[in-house]
Amino acid sequence: MNKKMMDMLVCPIDKHFPLEIFEVKSKEESVEEGVLYCTQCSRFYPIIEEIPILLPDDLRDKKQDMDFLKNHQEKLPEKIVKQASPWHL
Ligand SMILES: [Zn+2]
Repeated sequence: MNKKMMDMLVCPIDKHFPLEIFEVKSKEESVEEGVLYCTQCSRFYPIIEEIPILLPDDLRDKKQDMDFLKNHQEKLPEKIVKQASPWHL
């Protein structure tokens, strides 16, 4: 995901803008793995293999989200790993 996309991405639940970004793995202007975070509703959205996965709760893949948090918990802030909606570790 090119970081310039941050200018267009809004939270799918409450349309909040801008989202915060936390990079786990990035290359110059491109984020390969990371998290988008909405400070209004505390939801996190993973960026996996360059793709930001901005889906409403009922379409989210809980197992994928939990595996993602487990794999990257060392590199992400506690407000995401331990407190984010719709689920956390
Ligand atoms: Zn939100």
